Amino acid sequence: MAYVYDDTNIFARILRGEIPNKTVYETEHTLAFADIAPKAPAHVLVIPKGPYVTYDHFCAAASAEEIVDFSRAVAEVVKLVGAEAHSGGKGFRAITNAGEHGVQEVPHFHLHILAGRNIGPMIL
Ligand code: 5GP
Repeated sequence: MAYVYDDTNIFARILRGEIPNKTVYETEHTLAFADIAPKAPAHVLVIPKGPYVTYDHFCAAASAEEIVDFSRAVAEVVKLVGAEAHSGGKGFRAITNAGEHGVQEVPHFHLHILAGRNIGPMIL
């Protein structure tokens, strides 16, 4: 099934500078910003700048450069919030919701990085 990207979604508007955001980290292909309704002391959304609807869409359609850029940006965000579990931090949870069953609110692929408290069991 083809993906249809709706460029009126809130993250597309943030990327166009129409809505302010609290930027945590930015590269050529990726933006990371604070979630407006944080569920943890650190709650950062990492998004590609390209028009991808879901994680699987991003993985299938983005260039290798975009995917590497996004992955490195996730590592930088985890470092910035002090959650590098492999080097002494207390760790984090990364979540992405996709589509109806994933209960995705904003149809622009985003990875939630949650840190700063014990996030609890995986099924919320
Ligand atoms: P989803 O359910 O799509 O995975 O999560 C969407 C997330 O976007 C939610 O955690 C919500 O709080 C966040 N969000 C919605 N609107 C805005 C906004 O205008 N600015 C920011 N920074 N986050 C938003």
